[in-house]
Amino acid sequence: MWYTIDMNKYQARHKQYHIDNREKLNARSRQWRIDNRDKQRNHILSRLAGLYWYKVTKGCADCGSQDYRTLELDHVPELADGTPRRTVTGMMQPDTLAHELAKCEVVCANCHSIRTYMRRLDNRPEICYTSK
Ligand SMILES: [Zn+2]
Repeated sequence: MWYTIDMNKYQARHKQYHIDNREKLNARSRQWRIDNRDKQRNHILSRLAGLYWYKVTKGCADCGSQDYRTLELDHVPELADGTPRRTVTGMMQPDTLAHELAKCEVVCANCHSIRTYMRRLDNRPEICYTSK
């Protein structure tokens, strides 16, 4: 006979454990962050370095700028695949990041603002300063 787990029961027990041991778990996690501060910082920096490299290599899709200080990721509605949009940060797992990057285009902050404004003009013209 197969051993099956009642997921609702399992999740409820897991949740209750967290509620009952909140202080202990928070203290442990706080201590872990203190003990592993350098490790965590390096991990985040290495992820961010990869992301900066990605953005600089691509450059702005609209104007071609390669200034890493201004490059951002724009979620393009046409590339959306039905999954929720997520903030692309250095904390994401590599496969999640690749999945998220597939929905984005690299643009500079200026072009990103213009794109956002033009989309808003299409979708919610009532909150825009000018009309088309
Ligand atoms: Zn640009």
